Amino acid sequence: MTAKTSSAETIALFDQYVIGNYRRYPICLVRGEGSRVWDAEGNSYLDLFPGWGCNILGYSPERVVSAVQQQAAQLIHVPNTWYTRAQGEFAEAICTRSFGKAFFCNSGAESIEAAVKLARLATAKEKYKIITFENGFHGRTFAAVTATAQPKYHDGFGPLVAGFTYAPHNDLEAVRRLVDDETAAILIEPVQGEGGINIPAPGFLEGLRQICDEHDMLLIFDEVQTCMGRTGFWFGYQTFGVQPDILTMAKGIAGGVACGALIAKEEIAPALRPGIHASTFGGNPLAMSAGLATIQTIEAENLLESSKMMSERFRQHFQQLQQELPIIEEVRVCGMMIGLELNIEAAPAVKKCLDRGLLINATHDTVLRLLPALNVTSEDVEEGCQILSAVLREMAE
Ligand SMILES: *Cc1c(COP(=O)(O)O)cnc(C)c1O
Repeated sequence: MTAKTSSAETIALFDQYVIGNYRRYPICLVRGEGSRVWDAEGNSYLDLFPGWGCNILGYSPERVVSAVQQQAAQLIHVPNTWYTRAQGEFAEAICTRSFGKAFFCNSGAESIEAAVKLARLATAKEKYKIITFENGFHGRTFAAVTATAQPKYHDGFGPLVAGFTYAPHNDLEAVRRLVDDETAAILIEPVQGEGGINIPAPGFLEGLRQICDEHDMLLIFDEVQTCMGRTGFWFGYQTFGVQPDILTMAKGIAGGVACGALIAKEEIAPALRPGIHASTFGGNPLAMSAGLATIQTIEAENLLESSKMMSERFRQHFQQLQQELPIIEEVRVCGMMIGLELNIEAAPAVKKCLDRGLLINATHDTVLRLLPALNVTSEDVEEGCQILSAVLREMAE
């Protein structure tokens, strides 16, 4: 064991050797368990935004830890020139809970790249355009960032990838106006995450499905944030009862281990033929066994059901708080996706919560975002709501 190092010592290493493309809190995290995480100084935090949504079971969930340990001792990496049991079993696990066949990669953006390529390959030759939505978020690689209809993410990167057009969220008529003979697909998050937990208006996703059916286009759901029980169902599309042709996953898919995936309907899956698309680390045994252990945990601990109950607690608490505090404009809740739209800047609330040992996120200037672990306990919910309420009351004064 090396001697314990302070957060300051670690920060000094970053200052010298790590490119500064992130704004970081001046805290070095060292260990976590459930929704709790500890820093190098021994302070503990309640994390209602664990791993930016990746830690869907909180920190170091037991089954995932032991699956990774066992797998690492057997085989860490095997390229896709071979078969591995873990990839077959994890593909079975996610496809039998959704549909079609799976392709594996390592991140959300990579899953979007695969979806865009597949959409162009699997539709008529003249079709290449993809319609996406304002305030959506699809990642940082070139196709994914072009699909992200937010100018702040495009600044300085032009020329972007050709063929993307943007519609306002929840506006079916605007989508219809954008469709032409060259449109291959519509790409949307079932619930916009980074955009502020924006829930689709009733009938909107159904309308998109209908437009796609009418024009031989594919409907792609970006479920990078909504997959794996996040919305109270295995997948966001099941929450809204609208079937996509392609679905992308990442973030929570493997309980915090880096992994991404695409699921495609049987009819279009063969368009991804040998040689046309690949990912060196995609579907590696470590990620696959972590993913399998994540699904086993959600099932063994009945987390789809219990997270729905916790979601209701959050909803009730924040709706009540909204009655009391006019700074809360809207409370948006879909399973373990929670957004509080404020009519003041949200970032100061995040800082005040941090000072009191609660970790949450601010997005889109005015939205407080919580992505609690599916196994968040009722005590965690109570404590988190108390701290956040106290902070918002203080800010409302
Ligand atoms: C986070 C996110 C992405 C990007 O995922 P990365 O793993 O960071 O590439 C894409 N789509 C959605 C909906 C996301 O929330």
